[in-house]
Amino acid sequence: MGLRPNLLTRRAAGVASTTLALLLSTAAVGVVPAASAFSAAPGGACAEPADSHANARVKPGAAATHEPNELTAKQVRERDADLAAALRERANFRAGAGATTLATVTIPVVVHVIQENSTRAGGNIPDSLITSQISVLNQAYAGGTGGAATAFAFRLDKINRVTNPSWYPIVDGSSAERSMKSSLRVGGKNTLNIYLGELSDDLLGWATFPQRKLSSSDGVVVLNESLPGGTATNYNQGDTGTHEVGHWLNLYHTFQGGCGGSGDSVSDTPAEASAAFECPTGRNTCSATGLDPITNFMDYTYDSCMYQFTPGQASRMLTAWNAYRAA
Ligand SMILES: [Zn+2]
Repeated sequence: MGLRPNLLTRRAAGVASTTLALLLSTAAVGVVPAASAFSAAPGGACAEPADSHANARVKPGAAATHEPNELTAKQVRERDADLAAALRERANFRAGAGATTLATVTIPVVVHVIQENSTRAGGNIPDSLITSQISVLNQAYAGGTGGAATAFAFRLDKINRVTNPSWYPIVDGSSAERSMKSSLRVGGKNTLNIYLGELSDDLLGWATFPQRKLSSSDGVVVLNESLPGGTATNYNQGDTGTHEVGHWLNLYHTFQGGCGGSGDSVSDTPAEASAAFECPTGRNTCSATGLDPITNFMDYTYDSCMYQFTPGQASRMLTAWNAYRAA
């Protein structure tokens, strides 16, 4: 209950921040602003206690216990070492600098709608949901819902509808998924390929992290009914897309590493012992300063609860863009 008013609060903030987004895009300095002009919290609509779901951003009662983007500490060390190495390879990069000389980056997006048949239940979602998803991405990454403005904007280039029952549902890690992606993926490292469909294990989505060598698996898989206006209750405002694109741009979960170590490798997301579900306002699972970042797009809370990236995340994404995806 109370989720819709909260949604209106978030989207209204998006309208109000248009000026900020324009400032970012026209300033051409490429430095991510230190802080958003907006700090509005969701309107108190989400006050349910934490529940006992397993550790994946999945629908309640889901079979999955592990989202593909959850990493071990070793994997994080390897990824961060690779990022540092990739940056060293870039002649125009000054070591240690978080922001670079790029202005706003517009990412071309190709959406592959995987269908089992021509029915809605068979994956045939309307174009309107897809255009709404692109709007949600643009608002979220512009800081328009209350978080930091990032360097990124999204431009829908194509909707590619594919009817193939052997690819439906999309099964994480399957040979069918590899076949689907190698058949359909288009563009260079900078092109965001989004695959929509019913997903295995009640997952909401998964994504590839950036790599120095472009892989045919590169892209984001998102539950079709998680798009804005879809039927995935509590997860149908498009923030699964926002979350998975965050991974595609090299962000970890806010609960990566728990309370210790370097956590998610971002300094301004307070440490969090584990994923948060629903919208547990006031949750504080680590002794370090700061409440758990339950409103961050890289946690597992309801769409109505998550509305922001931090300046540190914005900087990490731009750094990774320059290391891995920029032309
Ligand atoms: Zn994730």
